[in-house]
Amino acid sequence: MKFNRPIKLAGLSAIPLRAEGGVSPKMALGSMPTRPALLIRLQDTSGCYGWGEVWANFPPRANIHKAHILEDVIASHLNNLTFVDPREVNEVLRSKLSIYFLHIGQQQVFEHILAGLDIALWDLSLRSAGVPFVDFLGLKSKVGNTYATSINATDLEKFIPKHAKMGQTFFKLKIGFEEHGTKEIVQKATVLCPVGSKIMVDSNQSWSLNEATTHLRDLEQYNLVFAEEPLRADANFCEWEQLVSSTNVPIAAGENIYGEHAFLRMADLGVQYLQPDVAKWGGISAILDLVKKLPDEVKVWPHFMGTAVGQFAALSISAAIGESSYCEVDVNENPLRTQLCVQPIKIQNGSIALPQSPGLVPEPLKQSLSFLNEKVA
Ligand SMILES: [Mg+2]
Repeated sequence: MKFNRPIKLAGLSAIPLRAEGGVSPKMALGSMPTRPALLIRLQDTSGCYGWGEVWANFPPRANIHKAHILEDVIASHLNNLTFVDPREVNEVLRSKLSIYFLHIGQQQVFEHILAGLDIALWDLSLRSAGVPFVDFLGLKSKVGNTYATSINATDLEKFIPKHAKMGQTFFKLKIGFEEHGTKEIVQKATVLCPVGSKIMVDSNQSWSLNEATTHLRDLEQYNLVFAEEPLRADANFCEWEQLVSSTNVPIAAGENIYGEHAFLRMADLGVQYLQPDVAKWGGISAILDLVKKLPDEVKVWPHFMGTAVGQFAALSISAAIGESSYCEVDVNENPLRTQLCVQPIKIQNGSIALPQSPGLVPEPLKQSLSFLNEKVA
């Protein structure tokens, strides 16, 4: 199905959020003592609206920085802009602002903003047409498959059995922290995993080629689904190729890759699992376009770590792809994921039901927006 009604944009609100407290995953970039996030609310001239999310996990005030860019640089270009397909807005903004972002050295920040806007444009377009995403695409299954992610080394006993009970069968472990070992964590998780479930590991770009080769050789016996970001996302292509050919552990990457060409190149080099983040690059439009160009043996398992708004967008991509795609869902406590929206994130039989109401994502609750709102001085 295609969008076929012109929509005229009337305004944009950037809404920085922050969740305090709770347990955060231990990240390669540091701890997350609080969880920053950034939502976008677009409105059209008829009063209809759409919600999106821009990736803003790091640095701690990324949400405020990007909110300022949306208000100061982007908003004026959107007012009175008419579009039929969300891709048209992306093209207009790229043609008007790509040199601006090149000049200020923030091209990837521009990509994050374009991705978040695309989510909001899809939500607005679907809401305006009165159609839920699953019906717009004519999907038989109205759920997105999920896998359990960001399980800290110290929380294996807590989260693996808990999420196995929810029907999840894939568990992703954070590794690359010396104090916990690598093989040791995987060995421990293997014992905890029920029969039929599988493990994958994420070392968050922390290894050199030599380290990655050695560690993956050590991990081959565990029949991992994949090893995520075993190299820096910008490691040269020969290194990726060399690593792929040195191990039988399937390789995954994507949360730090930008551009369709770069994703296709990674697939060419033998990366078997691509993990674009819907709030970081491409939004719904470019990721769905990318999926159509990939060979069948390459899987797309969306990366995600943020609020319920982006989470539902990422789940929608998995649902659109079908059975072969599983979307990442953080196991750690985060009210931005669990308390923000009208429709809760509830994992049942390993999957999450997508909204049946018009739009892409469920609407954030007013009281949650106010409770989680960033208190900007
Ligand atoms: Mg990762």
